[in-house]
Amino acid sequence: MARKSDICAFCGRKANEARLMIQGIDAQICDSCAEQAHLIVKQQFGDEQQPKSEFSPKGFALKKPAEIKAFLDQYVIGQDEAKRTLAVAVYNHYKRISQKVQADEVEIEKSNIILVGETGTGKTLLARTIAKMLNVPFAIADATVLTEAGYVGEDVENILVRLLQAADYDVAATERGIVFIDEIDKIARKSDNPSITRDVSGEGVQQAMLKLLEGSVVNVPPKGGRKHPEQPMTAINTKDILFIAGGAFDGIERLIAARKRTNVIGYGAGGNEALDKDNMLQYLSPADLKKFGLIPEIVGRLPIITHLNPLDKVALKRILTEPKNALVKQFTKLFAMDKIKLVIKDDVLDFVVEKAIEFKVGARGLRSIMEAILNDAMFEMPSQIEATELVIDRAYAEAKLEKSGLQKLHVGD
Ligand code: ADP
Repeated sequence: MARKSDICAFCGRKANEARLMIQGIDAQICDSCAEQAHLIVKQQFGDEQQPKSEFSPKGFALKKPAEIKAFLDQYVIGQDEAKRTLAVAVYNHYKRISQKVQADEVEIEKSNIILVGETGTGKTLLARTIAKMLNVPFAIADATVLTEAGYVGEDVENILVRLLQAADYDVAATERGIVFIDEIDKIARKSDNPSITRDVSGEGVQQAMLKLLEGSVVNVPPKGGRKHPEQPMTAINTKDILFIAGGAFDGIERLIAARKRTNVIGYGAGGNEALDKDNMLQYLSPADLKKFGLIPEIVGRLPIITHLNPLDKVALKRILTEPKNALVKQFTKLFAMDKIKLVIKDDVLDFVVEKAIEFKVGARGLRSIMEAILNDAMFEMPSQIEATELVIDRAYAEAKLEKSGLQKLHVGD
């Protein structure tokens, strides 16, 4: 008979039947029980296992750029160039924060980032995913609702209020957070020549935003808004806050092309530089952002420029199934909670992608199309106690989408 010390204390497997025995004080566990135990712990606590500790640069295990990119890969499909640039920028940013500057040492300046690419290509998702990885407060601000102080709309300072709230009013954590400023292209001046068309509103907001990007102490009303003028202000230093701006910059390709052509002529190169016309954003430079109407000071404060590519059919299909919280995984889980196995045929995914392209909604629209297809089943099946499986084929998907009226909404009759 096997001695107690030779068998797994959990399943009773003998040492020679297991690949590995891990020795404890008074017992041992085999590799397969250890694996099971790990799974149980993971299911129980999921992501919570990561300590939700306050951000402290000292105790902060900063991931290397390649690890940051690998993390982004789990959530964001494609956009490799943007991921690499972001990974380096974020790595340097947090390295800079943790650096203790001696009097005679080189001080590394902060570098905010600007992401240029069509709407729905993953700009916000990238910024949000980075914040999640770093476990730092994150806030999204829509540049279009910002106004200069004194006008109707939102003060630029309110961006910091939202970050402060995301940090549960912890000022130290706020000062190391990430702010995503969406639609920065919408506050561009209409002309890049300020003396001709002075588009005061756009330029005024840019000036106000400059104060945040530059790194300064800003007094913010912790409750936000202008409704509580009596509330005490909280001082927030924006020096270490990472700002990531994003925008579609519709039409900027034309400006890039024009600049490239001028350059070619200017250098007398005979126009032999082959331009990849389908992807002009790869040649994007600060000059183009200025030409588009961002004031030079703002462009100077967003020195890291990168672009996102439009998502093609292959990318959209991957988005449906591959990311950690891909839509297909989410719906499968929802049905599984009612003990129903959801099977979505591959050509249904093609259909969803085709419709997203037809409706011109990109990745952003994938969810509403999936919802339209699955809504009837999600309504009916939980009451069908005997149901154990739902198979969605293309005919089913087409019929449900037709019935939902989503098609009419996007393309009319
Ligand atoms: P943007 O900020 O560029 O307008 P978002 O990041 O808000 O676009 O994208 C909208 C939604 O589309 C995201 O929440 C995500 O579900 C999906 N999505 C967009 N791009 C990608 C991508 N590259 N990989 C995975 N999902 C994406």
